[in-house]
Amino acid sequence: MPEAKLIDGKAIAAALRAEIGRRTAALTAAHGIVPGLATVLVGDDPASRVYVRNKVRQADEAGIHGVTETLPETTTEQELVNLVRRLNDAADIHGILVQLPLPGHIDADAVIDAIDPGKDVDGFHAINAGRLMIGRPGFVPCTPKGCMMLVDSAIDDLTGANAVVVGRSNIVGKPMAQLLLARHCTVTMAHSRTRDLAEVCRRADILVAAVGRARMIEGGWIKPGAVVIDVGINRVPAEEEGKTRLVGDVDFEAARAVAGAITPVPGGVGPMTIACLLQNTLEAACRLNGVEMPCAGNT
Ligand code: NAP
Repeated sequence: MPEAKLIDGKAIAAALRAEIGRRTAALTAAHGIVPGLATVLVGDDPASRVYVRNKVRQADEAGIHGVTETLPETTTEQELVNLVRRLNDAADIHGILVQLPLPGHIDADAVIDAIDPGKDVDGFHAINAGRLMIGRPGFVPCTPKGCMMLVDSAIDDLTGANAVVVGRSNIVGKPMAQLLLARHCTVTMAHSRTRDLAEVCRRADILVAAVGRARMIEGGWIKPGAVVIDVGINRVPAEEEGKTRLVGDVDFEAARAVAGAITPVPGGVGPMTIACLLQNTLEAACRLNGVEMPCAGNT
């Protein structure tokens, strides 16, 4: 059996960002609207700072005005909610993202509840989660939205395919399962209490791993020819003394020998998440202004 095709998330995300850039330019030219994305960062978690910096840089490159609101670790829940409400009212802001995790004394649900669902470009608000569930337009969480694009790049027709999603978080597993269901897959959601996970995975034509356990999914769990989407980001010791490297939830080398197509880590799902955030922000700017999404134009 030939080695699996590599699903190049980096290239697909770059093409999507370029397309968003063209659409944004067309929106600005036709209507004078510059999409605005506010990212709220509480405390100084180094990983969160890096994510936020990348989001703002990539937004700016796509013609989206990125603003970062940085608040100290000691910020109260009420102060954060007040900031979110101010951003809800700001005419030049179309997307609001509160970087998670928040410090332990702040209830993330209460903060997400405060975001205007029309500006909830992360798609975490209960209104948007509900809309996804019942098949109505809303904002779809960025990581599963990106995963679907990667699935689409690897498979023509999903109808009737057996899809297995390992992980049931609100931000990845559950919305991923909804998206696959909406595309007429037969969906199984697996989690930490699933019996005989290996056997469940072996039935998957499309296998999505969103667990957070390094290389947990073994090559022998993959159905020959399956499309494997690895959402996991796990830091493990590298061969070189004192260094670390990133691996996914799937044992990549073993899975690659069996699967039909597979995402690498890094360079698979990761780059799609920010690209989809930018797409959601552009969509929000169009909807809030009551204008059609402009055409992508030529490259
Ligand atoms: P999470 O909230 O911790 O959820 C993990 C899920 O995995 C839970 O549903 C848990 O089941 C399940 N699980 C844990 N151990 C398991 C086991 N032994 N067998 C089967 N299922 C098991 O994580 P998340 O936020 O969804 O993120 C998952 C991974 O994706 C992490 O590595 C994260 O870093 C990565 N991630 C990447 C991106 C990206 O942009 N690439 C974005 C988001 C997340 P229970 O519900 O039963 O506990």
